[in-house]
Amino acid sequence: MIIHMAEGATIDQVERVINRISQDYGLRCETIVSSTTVIGVKGVASIVDEGRITELPGVDRVIRITEKYKDAARSFHNEDTIIHVGGRVPVGGGNLTFFGGPCAIENEQQAIDSARLAKAAGVDILRAFPDKSRTSPYDYRGLDLTRGLEIATAMKADTGLPIVGELIDLRHLDAFLDAGMDVIQIGARSAQYSPLLEELSKIDRPVVLKHGFGNDMNEWLAAAAYVMSGIDRERRTVSEGNKNVILCYRGIKSFESETRFSADISMIPLVRSKSHLPLIADPSHSSGDKKLVERVTYGFVAAGAHGIEFDIHSNPAEALCDGKQAVTHEAERIIRSARQIHAMLSGIGMETGSSVAVAAK
Ligand code: PEP
Ligand code: MN
Repeated sequence: MIIHMAEGATIDQVERVINRISQDYGLRCETIVSSTTVIGVKGVASIVDEGRITELPGVDRVIRITEKYKDAARSFHNEDTIIHVGGRVPVGGGNLTFFGGPCAIENEQQAIDSARLAKAAGVDILRAFPDKSRTSPYDYRGLDLTRGLEIATAMKADTGLPIVGELIDLRHLDAFLDAGMDVIQIGARSAQYSPLLEELSKIDRPVVLKHGFGNDMNEWLAAAAYVMSGIDRERRTVSEGNKNVILCYRGIKSFESETRFSADISMIPLVRSKSHLPLIADPSHSSGDKKLVERVTYGFVAAGAHGIEFDIHSNPAEALCDGKQAVTHEAERIIRSARQIHAMLSGIGMETGSSVAVAAK
């Protein structure tokens, strides 16, 4: 629910509205002051009686947010969200950010060689995955957790880059945080698993949320709202929520079997119009083939993605996981050309719901 105060509404009138929301309904508010004051009601705002708010002095109008993904919705928060990974690398807004590295950590040599290759190519945030969700239990699923995290930390120390890793098991969260994992990734296979999402709402470490390969856009953004809202199963707002969610599009299942998944490029501008969150895309897990990764990257960037996450491996022929889709030295050209495309198109407006925003350079 959004409450627009009338022009010239006094501070006392604004406070009266906020007090009524908190005393009568136990909900919190966020206030944005520009030429007029706008009050956003957090949590389960469906319990608020609209009429009782509209009649208060100084209130101009009350708008209900109908989307099931309120915290992630652009109608609730119009400005693009920019997240600073590791306190320094920006994702979102006018930035183009590259996440890259090996699909999984296999051994120290492979991990460090691949990390150096990714850094030399211009990657901003390094993939350092101790855990791997795989479709088949017979496939490579990562090293023992302690060893995997030790190597992830070594990749970070060697390159000086922030790292991202996939969390599969809730019991591993504290170890990930203690090891200095800068971004926690939730994979496509866990993308709607609410206990995992709720736990991430209690921390403030950035989260990359993959698009579940059987989900539509509303389900994906609702999963993001699980992390952002801080609402528990009793529909109480128990924490502030974690607003640092980065969406990652990676294609869905379709009848096409020649590509690994089917990525619909129109999802990029669509999701950007519906949500203020940073949106990156994964050309490796969508196409499944390194011969396709370069052009698919350019397509995602031209469509308006805020970044790319892709697999880079120092020796794909020997990789234990997803070698077929990993690039090597081409990564440098891909990043350089994608940045040119991004710069060239940065003056073109992006439909963002109520307004047309031109990405800031
Ligand atoms: C990955 O990024 O390593 C991965 C497994 O991707 P997804 O969860 O999208 O399948
Ligand atoms: Mn992979």
